[in-house]
Amino acid sequence: MKQWTWQTVMGFLLLGAVTLLSWQAGSLAASGVLTVQSREGTAETARPVVVIDPGHGGKDPGKVGVNGQLEKDINLSIALRLKNYLEYSDVTAVLTREEDTGLSPAGGRYKKMSDMQKRCQIIEEAKPDLVVSIHQNSYHENSIFGGQVFYYKTSQKGKVLAQILQKRFDYVLGSANRRQAKANDNYYLLLHVKEPIVIVECGFLSNPSEAANLQTEEYQDRMAWTIHMGIMEYLNKERA
Ligand SMILES: [Zn+2]
Repeated sequence: MKQWTWQTVMGFLLLGAVTLLSWQAGSLAASGVLTVQSREGTAETARPVVVIDPGHGGKDPGKVGVNGQLEKDINLSIALRLKNYLEYSDVTAVLTREEDTGLSPAGGRYKKMSDMQKRCQIIEEAKPDLVVSIHQNSYHENSIFGGQVFYYKTSQKGKVLAQILQKRFDYVLGSANRRQAKANDNYYLLLHVKEPIVIVECGFLSNPSEAANLQTEEYQDRMAWTIHMGIMEYLNKERA
């Protein structure tokens, strides 16, 4: 008799537990928690993808600085640092080049054009949320300095991203950051890439102090961090 009571109590406890579990599963499904879990891997939960395009490379040095710095090297160094920061933030980062090389096939007649076409192809295949092309500027007056971000004139998303990044240049340039994000309609990549894309001109290699800064790893790192923070701000807004 004593044993029968014990078994009955256990039976009731078990029945209660099963009832409670199934009720919880039902309410979780109703609240959407279980539905979201089953959707893993779809667009809503996938990692964002960013293409970083370090301008120039190989035989194309880009701008040459007052102390002989080559734009292509600074672009690549900032791009590789930016890639690391984005990956720490769970963003998939795709580079159009990861070493000092151009993207046009050797011996091609229209080298610049085929280089640009290859960059576009890499971008299209990555299906990115956004694209950042890294460059350095130059001007015939060496007093001119500062970073500036360009976007395609009719791209609202490109404009938003450009304005966020331009504002964040405060971090590296302080109150000297007086430039505005600027619309453009003739850069090849801006014309041919359909995703939001910006050209980030980090600074002027024609300005002695900015050229010296851009050559240091510390400044390149701050620049990469700044661009990374801007990208994260944009992605958080867009994916909210
Ligand atoms: Zn350039």
